Parts: sequence; structure tokens; C-alpha cells
Amino acid sequence: MQADVDRVLISEEKIHARVRELAAAITRDHTTPNMPGDAEVVIVPILTGAMIFCGDLIRDIPIPMRIGLIAVSSYPGTATTSQGVNVKDYEGLAASLGDLTGRHVVVVDDILDSGHTLATVVPLIRQRGAASVKTCVLLRKDRQSAHDFVADYIGFEIPDEFVVGYGLDFDDYYRNLPDIVTLKREVFAHLTK
Ligand code: 5GP
Ligand code: MG
Repeated sequence: MQADVDRVLISEEKIHARVRELAAAITRDHTTPNMPGDAEVVIVPILTGAMIFCGDLIRDIPIPMRIGLIAVSSYPGTATTSQGVNVKDYEGLAASLGDLTGRHVVVVDDILDSGHTLATVVPLIRQRGAASVKTCVLLRKDRQSAHDFVADYIGFEIPDEFVVGYGLDFDDYYRNLPDIVTLKREVFAHLTK
């Protein structure tokens, strides 16, 4: 697996330091007096990519929270460019999101690229009656479309390249790499799409 890595863009240490800063910002914004009355949040990681990021993030947010799950796929299988947003299993995810009426929601995603994922998910959350919806992404690609959707919390700006690791996959592999990396060209040589 490590042999497939081309370059390390962001090391594990840098990721963890930045995740702590993002958690501090989310905590501050969801604590009185910034959030009077209801200092409780619902964290919604967008599966599968945000799973690892969210796991680290929430352990540094010391306020009451519940987790709601949502699964979205736009880079299925061996795709390395967006294939359009597919919200999986809407009934199932609706059950797992629970009642969001009057809740303060933080949607967590791994990376902001075309912006279609968050532009699809945020209205779904609003429709379910959330009092506020904030968005948090670990990475934002350096391309115009990624800037058109304005996320509230952004970890790192990265070049417009396909990356894996720390939850991000290629063909569902590499999510367990601790760093954010690019892959060698040979890895894509057997592309089926
Ligand atoms: P958007 O909807 O903003 O185009 O893309 C967001 C989703 O596309 C992310 O949640 C992620 O699943 C996938 N994605 C975008 N860029 C990359 C990338 O460089 N690497 C990987 N592995 N997934 C990406
Ligand atoms: Mg994703």
C-alpha cells in the first residue's frame, strides 16, 4: 500500500494539529453566548470518506452531541472525477438522521471539490427542520467550483489533484493511510472507467 504512494501532501501530524483547531472553532461557535439556549449539536458525517476525520474531530468537541449518518457517493469505484451526486439509501439515512427539528447541525465531509455533495446535502438537512446548519471539510481543492460553495470550517487547501488517505479512497482502498497522499500513475493504469 505504502509502495503505491507518490507524494505525501499532508502528514498525519499536520492533520491532527489542524483537526484540533477545527474542533476548537466548532466548539466555540456552538457554545454560549454564540449559541444561546441549546448548546447541543448533531454531527452529520458524509460517509464513507468523512468517517475517519469525523472520528478524530468529535473527540475534541466537548459538548453534548448526537451523530446522524448520511451516505453520498460521487466518485464510485475507480472514478477519479465526479460522476454526479448519488444520495444512497435515502430512507435508511433519514432514519439514522433522526429528528432534526430545532437542532444545530454540523455536516462533516472529507473534501470539497465540485461542491455538489454539500450543495445537495445541506438543503436535505434544512428541510428536516434544523435550526442551523454549518459545514466542515478537511480539504478544499484549489479550483473555482470548490470556492463557489462556502464551507464554514476548512482544514487545508490542496492542489487540484486526486488524493487518498485519512478516509479518502481509490476503489475503496487506501482509506487507512494516515497521511493525505497522491498515488503513483501505475496505480491508475488498470482503470476500468
Ligand atoms: P464534490 O461533491 O465537492 O465534488 O466532491 C466531494 C466528494 O467527492 C468527496 O466527499 C469525496 O468523496 C469525493 N472526492 C472529491 N475529490 C476527491 C479526491 O481527490 N480523492 C478522493 N478519494 N475523493 C474525492
Ligand atoms: Mg465523499
